[in-house]
Amino acid sequence: MSRTVRIPAREAEVVIEADVVVAGGGPAGLGAALAASRAGAKVALLERYGFLGGNLTAAAVGTVCGLYVRSGGEFDFVTGGIAKSFAESLQSRGAAIGPFPFKETAVLLYVPWAAKRLADHLVEEAGIDLLLHALVSDVLLDETGALEGLVVAGKQGPKAVLGRVFVDATGDADIAVAAGAPWEMGPPGERQFGSMQFFVQNADTQAALGAGLARLTEEITTHGTHLSRDGGAVIPTFRPGEMIGAMTRLGRDGVPLDATDLFDLTYGELEGRRRAEEAFEFLAAHMPGFSDAFLADTAVQQGVRETRHIVGGYTLTGDDVRGLAAFDDAVVSAAWPQEYHVSGRSTEYVFLPDASSYQIPYRSLVVTGPPNLLVAGRCISADHHALASCRVMAPCMALGEAAGTAAAMAATESTARGGSAVGDIDVGVLQDHLVAAGAILSV
Ligand SMILES: Cc1cc2nc3c(=O)[nH]c(=O)nc-3n(C[C@H](O)[C@H](O)[C@H](O)COP(=O)(O)OP(=O)(O)OC[C@H]3O[C@@H](n4cnc5c(N)ncnc54)[C@H](O)[C@@H]3O)c2cc1C
Repeated sequence: MSRTVRIPAREAEVVIEADVVVAGGGPAGLGAALAASRAGAKVALLERYGFLGGNLTAAAVGTVCGLYVRSGGEFDFVTGGIAKSFAESLQSRGAAIGPFPFKETAVLLYVPWAAKRLADHLVEEAGIDLLLHALVSDVLLDETGALEGLVVAGKQGPKAVLGRVFVDATGDADIAVAAGAPWEMGPPGERQFGSMQFFVQNADTQAALGAGLARLTEEITTHGTHLSRDGGAVIPTFRPGEMIGAMTRLGRDGVPLDATDLFDLTYGELEGRRRAEEAFEFLAAHMPGFSDAFLADTAVQQGVRETRHIVGGYTLTGDDVRGLAAFDDAVVSAAWPQEYHVSGRSTEYVFLPDASSYQIPYRSLVVTGPPNLLVAGRCISADHHALASCRVMAPCMALGEAAGTAAAMAATESTARGGSAVGDIDVGVLQDHLVAAGAILSV
């Protein structure tokens, strides 16, 4: 057993008191904070980095997946609400293009910088109490087991943010885990690998796009067997000469890293930059369009696809996804294929039939633990095979929108009923609120 030491108890200054406190400012946390604010709650949003967006910005993933569903030759939105308006705002700023065909479906290509600024504007406009550089390191529970507040690790020592209802949108279920709620993380073989994305500049994007993904795969098969993936993509941002490399896989001895472990995370950053360099050198040597290009930078951090998910009121399964499950308490509909970065060097897709979607129930957001805590995003109650689909950014934002709206309802109703249990809200009313705000609950 490793050595431990006792940490002395300390006082923490209360810096914010809010109706709804959202931890994590990625796609899910943004959706949650904006929705709770729209519903009239006083909202605090706590993010460990100096900017919002999560994988959208920090990992520079380069495409928003899960917005569209194919219907005949056309693409319709399968995710509405905040995700759709976020996409449309980026498009109106000339910073996104979509639906852009990808395999049997379509994505939205976007500029990460523009997404970062749009998130700033939206949160400022909504009057949300935003704390950046605010890593939530612990929780405060009252004698009944309800959450009272979150502890933020700051340069000046611990600070406390108190609230009535909380949304865990940390991606890793940090709040639920700290509060003692049950969770699981898949073993190797049932956990997605992460990746380090990288920015390429001064590329001849026309030549690169003309060569296409099939040529990339062919060249990797012939000259790139040393690379960590046997395919991937180089994604245009449509800024002159700029593309995002999505060509790496991060593991050790064929095992995905545990991105909640400090040592694995450290290894992942160093190894991720090495693999990004290796992938870029391959592009420059073998792919049209990259001979004069340079590797501008890697993403702020390695991209993390899957860590802990809670075991909550209902565990969404891969069978639910493939069987196009419908639920009375549905709060999100989704149609992205199951996308697996799990075995060897390849990526596998299991597509849903045309014009179809599955639903995600409210119960998958409800933890078995503090009665005033919801989760949203890639740490909801879902198994590895369901997450292979619903972890992408449009459904994560929609899950946040559902959690934020529900949290605001619970926080508001509590003044009348004297409680703020998220399990007690009227889910029919929640669905009405979501649909009225443009959410799509079925296609
Ligand atoms: C390499 C890679 C490529 C991908 N490609 C795509 C793609 O092309 N399209 C797509 O739609 N999806 C893609 N995905 C999936 C998608 O990006 C994520 O699943 C999605 O971002 C999850 O959203 P989230 O808000 O749940 O979590 P995250 O995006 O992980 O956001 C969590 C946020 O919480 C913050 N946080 C974490 N812990 C704390 C804490 N304790 N205190 C305070 N803040 C905290 C983080 O800094 C972050 O901002 C990709 C993922 C990876 C890793």
